[in-house]
Amino acid sequence: MKTNRPENAHQAALLRLLRDGPRSRAELADLTAEPATPAGAPVTPPPPGAAFGHPWRMSRSKLNAELDRLVELGLAEPDGLAASRGGRRSSRVRLSHATRFAGIDIGATSVDVAVTDGELRVLGHVSEPCDVRLGPAHVLDRVLTLAGKLKEQGLFTQLHGTGIGVPGPVSFAEGVPVVPPIMPGWDRYPVRETVSQELGCPAMLDNDVNIMALGELHAGLARQVDDFLLVKIGTGIGCGIVVDGKIYRGVSGSAGDIGHIRVDELGPVCACGNTGCLEAYFGGAALAGQAQAAARAGASPYLAERLATAGALSAEDVAAAAAQGDVAAIQLIRDGGQRVGQVLAGLVSFFNPGLVIIAGGVARLGHVLLAEIRSVVYRRSLPLATGNLPIVLSELEDAAGVVGAARLISDHVYSA
Ligand SMILES: [Zn+2]
Repeated sequence: MKTNRPENAHQAALLRLLRDGPRSRAELADLTAEPATPAGAPVTPPPPGAAFGHPWRMSRSKLNAELDRLVELGLAEPDGLAASRGGRRSSRVRLSHATRFAGIDIGATSVDVAVTDGELRVLGHVSEPCDVRLGPAHVLDRVLTLAGKLKEQGLFTQLHGTGIGVPGPVSFAEGVPVVPPIMPGWDRYPVRETVSQELGCPAMLDNDVNIMALGELHAGLARQVDDFLLVKIGTGIGCGIVVDGKIYRGVSGSAGDIGHIRVDELGPVCACGNTGCLEAYFGGAALAGQAQAAARAGASPYLAERLATAGALSAEDVAAAAAQGDVAAIQLIRDGGQRVGQVLAGLVSFFNPGLVIIAGGVARLGHVLLAEIRSVVYRRSLPLATGNLPIVLSELEDAAGVVGAARLISDHVYSA
């Protein structure tokens, strides 16, 4: 079964507007109005993220013709009448009820699969532990099994597209991971092609940090923000860069790989082979190692007890210890926050974002971490850059990846 795609940039722009919810034809006309004549009313600014780089302005008759065509194509449908604005009531339009996207978030230690409607509301979300080091054949088999479960639940018969995130660098154009450090066996594996064929729909592949940033852009704290940074602190550390409502990927797709910015020449050796990288100080593995050292040195009775019981420590143990007021754990978080803040202060001076979101497993260390990052960034960046800069913790948690993956593919499907 083949699903239709928009036939031109105007239709694509309308679909992106409707992705934010049903609209009346009158509202859509306001949002897409052509520039006023010199004597006329002021020009409506483009709605945030509505139709990047595409012609989004059209006459009222063009608008109505394109909306009718979208209904014919099965991409949109009538949605009753809008409340009166003082004249004839305008009819409402929404995305087709049948529209379905899948969001797949492959993490270092888990896989998440969700199915959304056209407005990217999550209709079903399943997750299971899965070690990405088991390789693409195994992991993708698990992913397809989870997607099959959602299909059995009746959440979809045909997908319009699938977005996929993986915890490593990706060639976005080719849809393959490229020399991903924590994903042995995945180098240049045709992930996009495989998923697209198996699920019978278009697919797009990106790294997990970029899809989290897209999730925040669609459903999180960045909804009204066109220029922001998302710093993910988990097993690795990376940064999603959103410029003008779009992910900035750089020339080869490695933009935002801040985990390997050097914070101290004499620092510990990193998995990448260099020394003193941010990730070598404060990735999940680094933090676990520091916690074990603190436990063995007798600096933390709490961590020592956890280590004795479990045989190893993780970032979650540090969070739990800090929540109990454990001085050594709090100090580890403060030290890590200092290093992240040091790198972020440079990024803020360089990029001048409107918002910084801290996300990922280690970010769940919470407010001690946030306070430390804030204090360094506010102290070290220029006042003009930080005067109006919120630095916040993500509120989406596990939903950010799957919603962002659905957003990624919907951007692709709703383009012409
Ligand atoms: Zn490194």
